Amino acid sequence: MGDTCIIIGASHAAAQLAPSLRQEGWTGPIVVIGDEPSLPYHRPPLSKAYLSGEKNAHDLLIRASDVYSRFGIEFRLGERVESINRSSKTVTLRSGEELAYGKLAICTGTRVRTVTLPGSTLAGIHYLRNIADIDRIKADVRVGGRAVIVGGGYIGLETAAVLNKLGMHVTVLEMAPRVLARVTASQVSEFFERVHGEEGVEIQTSIAVSGFEGDTRVERVVCANGTHLPVDMVIIGVGVTPNVELAAEADLATDNGVLVDACARTSDPDIVAVGDCTMHPSPFYGYIRLESVPNATEQAKSAAAALCGKEKPYAALPWFWSDQYDIKLQIAGLNQGYDEVVVRGERATGRSFSAFYLKSGKLVAADCVNRPQEFMVSKRLIAEGIEVTPGQLANEGIALKSLLEAVRDNSPT
Ligand SMILES: Cc1cc2nc3c(=O)[nH]c(=O)nc-3n(C[C@H](O)[C@H](O)[C@H](O)COP(=O)(O)OP(=O)(O)OC[C@H]3O[C@@H](n4cnc5c(N)ncnc54)[C@H](O)[C@@H]3O)c2cc1C
Repeated sequence: MGDTCIIIGASHAAAQLAPSLRQEGWTGPIVVIGDEPSLPYHRPPLSKAYLSGEKNAHDLLIRASDVYSRFGIEFRLGERVESINRSSKTVTLRSGEELAYGKLAICTGTRVRTVTLPGSTLAGIHYLRNIADIDRIKADVRVGGRAVIVGGGYIGLETAAVLNKLGMHVTVLEMAPRVLARVTASQVSEFFERVHGEEGVEIQTSIAVSGFEGDTRVERVVCANGTHLPVDMVIIGVGVTPNVELAAEADLATDNGVLVDACARTSDPDIVAVGDCTMHPSPFYGYIRLESVPNATEQAKSAAAALCGKEKPYAALPWFWSDQYDIKLQIAGLNQGYDEVVVRGERATGRSFSAFYLKSGKLVAADCVNRPQEFMVSKRLIAEGIEVTPGQLANEGIALKSLLEAVRDNSPT
């Protein structure tokens, strides 16, 4: 294995894949090509502790540079791969330089979905994906200033919480009838709407933005219902698109992501793809595309093994988290296709409860608000397919952990 392995994207996935390659026995050069100027960094704090100022750019680094040096991993930062030529086994950089690979990893992540409404290029309108985006947002934060967040997803709500803490008047505009509509049950949406209201963030739902007005900077958000909201800053968080163009133009199979198998292999045996940009099989949910750090990290380990000729299929249960105010939401599994929601705890007044999602009587996902132990147990209940009843889940008198113990006690020795 003296060939070069090229990794495209100095990403979460790359930060795991490159060292894992060494651990799996890759002896040739490893070159990571990233179009951002930074070594791979943790993106989740961007809308949390980095925006609030509690962490700086150095704190975000996934690994220090000497760790990569020790593993003999080379970085080419600020360089973009423009194309992959599979017949010559080369990639072409924006500068025109060509680099040869023996194996290739596509870890290109996602990019934010942008809007093309009137006025959407005015100064003071931001998106949120990388360090540079947050630095621009931070420069616009003013105590007493007015911020509008377009989109009530996790990232929009996290950003609202931080800007509120930094002293801004924050309004969230969500087109759907409730926030987090794509990802949670209405019970969980209502909880977050209440909490944001209690903290002083205004949430307006079923409202569409039709444009932005201002001279050179944004001064007003125009809504389709005719209202105008005066504003000093706008942040747009309306989802992401997977970066699949490099793969698609190289005739690799794509479908809302680069199609890979359980070992992260694409339709070309010399090329893997890892992280947000992939559509991969899950033993629990069929083919899925995930936007999460645990996914990028775990899939990278399978990819490293595959590049070294080994089979270590990626079969982890998806999980996520979101931090808002004093709330840690931890999500086990995916609630796709659920037909029943069971709530455990008092969600209407307090800040601690869990919502369980069942599909045909089977637990498929759980949203745990300030309940880390229930999150840990839920992961196992789902992953191990342990049968539970709605009554058991709802009853706070029954410790969730005891449901695991019941299975253990009944299993054959
Ligand atoms: C604000 C924010 C908050 C988040 N919060 C959470 C959270 O709380 N929990 C959670 O699990 N996940 C969270 N996520 C999602 C998480 O950050 C992503 O799932 C994770 O970063 C995915 O990693 P990745 O390896 O797929 O790609 P990324 O880490 O996104 O990196 C991809 C890299 O590839 C680069 N690239 C793309 N094309 C090329 C090219 N042609 N040449 C060179 N470089 C290229 C990109 O610029 C980027 O640097 C959050 C994301 C954001 C933006």
